[in-house]
Amino acid sequence: MAPCTFAGVGYLARVTEVDAETAVTPPPRRSLVRTAELGPLARTADDWAKVLGPLGGRPFHGKQVFRWIHARSVLDPSQMTDLPASLRQSLQTLGLAETLTIASERRSTDATRKLLVKMHDGSTVETVLIPRLPRLGQSKLPSPLDDGADDADDTDEEEDEANETVHVTQCISTQVGCAMGCVFCASGVAGLKRQMTADEIVAQVIVGRSRLEPNEQLRNVVLMGMGEPLHNYDATVRALKLLTHPDGIALSSRRITVSTSGLVPEIERLGKDFAGNIGLAISLHATDNETRSKLMPINRKYPLEVLMAALRAYPLPKRRRITIEYTLVAGRNDSTAEAKKLVTLLRGLPVKVNLIPMNPIEASTLGPPDWNGVFAFQKIVVDAGYSCFIRRQRGDDVSAACGQLALSGKWAGAKAKVRVDRS
Ligand code: SF4
Repeated sequence: MAPCTFAGVGYLARVTEVDAETAVTPPPRRSLVRTAELGPLARTADDWAKVLGPLGGRPFHGKQVFRWIHARSVLDPSQMTDLPASLRQSLQTLGLAETLTIASERRSTDATRKLLVKMHDGSTVETVLIPRLPRLGQSKLPSPLDDGADDADDTDEEEDEANETVHVTQCISTQVGCAMGCVFCASGVAGLKRQMTADEIVAQVIVGRSRLEPNEQLRNVVLMGMGEPLHNYDATVRALKLLTHPDGIALSSRRITVSTSGLVPEIERLGKDFAGNIGLAISLHATDNETRSKLMPINRKYPLEVLMAALRAYPLPKRRRITIEYTLVAGRNDSTAEAKKLVTLLRGLPVKVNLIPMNPIEASTLGPPDWNGVFAFQKIVVDAGYSCFIRRQRGDDVSAACGQLALSGKWAGAKAKVRVDRS
């Protein structure tokens, strides 16, 4: 789902409404958890030791290979210089670099880079590198891109800004397409093609890091690209464990945010599996069940009261907050009355709110409110005591949003599974 939240960077393909009867029904639970095949980039040091043993490797070689891949983003065995030559030769046959390749890279005028990555079966997904923009003075209107970082990080940010280090947030995909059928989303329109494996998920970060510029540092990873991460639970969790492994990329779990449309059982599992340390973002987009079910069919299965109960039960560490993503669509969910309903809905929850003015698109007459409307909405949320950010549109000129780039290629002719209301 991404992607849900990357509505913020323009993934809105079409914001329309759909009748409950014609909306896409999410697949049965059984298909939500599909065991992913363990590809080379999903192996831990121990897994590698087992693979390398029959090839003449010693147990400690497993850790060395893991570090080359995950800590240094090296996928060419000939560059793994501390391995015996014979082992490097054997590794050449294991297809480390074949998990995915970069099919294209598009750079926005705001330095956002969108990589279209191709997997072994020709499927493509996108991953986006989003350098942090300088803060806009003291004003929070409009605010910087919210990247899921805690307020506690502000000191670090100031120190790193002094060092001229540019922090990069990477948005990654977890499925080819998406089954959730959100009517405003290009991925939802295309439907689910297949689950991504754990090594395909983590490979996006490995190749993404290799594309960073000398003054850039990967700071955050957000699972907001194509797909609903919690609909591919096992592979997503394995990828999260690899991304946070101390001998690998070693991202702090507080620097990772999983965005979901609201799969309640999997939200509960994620909370238990990581003790609440993985950041959680919810694509809310509406404050009542009738509206939300029209926009996001998953709401018919897990309505707002069930979702809110799951958020209240999420074992969030102290000082952490859940991110609420709310796309503002003029005349649909942007009134001050809606803002008050949102505040009421969120009462008592440790949340911050990201407001995302809808990206205007050709396929719909719907669009964002004017800035006065956005600010008025924000003021109500802020006055109620919540942090509330307005997302900057990033990478619009390279379609840097959920599903858009992939759809501009082979899926461009994909038919919507939902009835589109263009009125
Ligand atoms: S259709 Fe899928 S990817 Fe798109 S917003 Fe919904 S959950 Fe996210």
